[in-house]
Amino acid sequence: MPIDATQPYDDDNIFAKILRGEIPSKKVYEDEHALAFHDINPQAPTHILVIPKGRYVSWDDFTAKADDAEIAAFIRAVGKVARDAGLVEPGYRLLANIGPDSHQEVAHLHVHIFAGRKLGPMLAQ
Ligand code: AMP
Repeated sequence: MPIDATQPYDDDNIFAKILRGEIPSKKVYEDEHALAFHDINPQAPTHILVIPKGRYVSWDDFTAKADDAEIAAFIRAVGKVARDAGLVEPGYRLLANIGPDSHQEVAHLHVHIFAGRKLGPMLAQ
């Protein structure tokens, strides 16, 4: 069910529960500002989600409200996760869904990292 990314942050969302350690995840990376873990329903051989630790509904919310240190750290974390996974040479794709038209389902900002096969056209036809 797509979410409305203009709504306030909801602490009951599933990634908030992962951050609080209430439900498990297959962790790939963690630092002060970011957590990365494998997607539970992978769409490619490598499908990792990177999330900020702060309470941000979407990329829009994050880029409007997060401070510069959080934004820099999060973007660096996304790059590091992909680099450490050996994805730079074969290539990878980043995706962030925001709101209903993109079919964002989890109301906590997440960047998808897809890799491990030819990823095809940028958007489904
Ligand atoms: P989006 O449609 O961009 O909001 O993507 C949400 C993603 O979260 C989907 O790819 C789901 O498979 C993934 N997901 C949902 N629950 C979990 C979970 N508990 N652990 C890991 N990934 C999850």
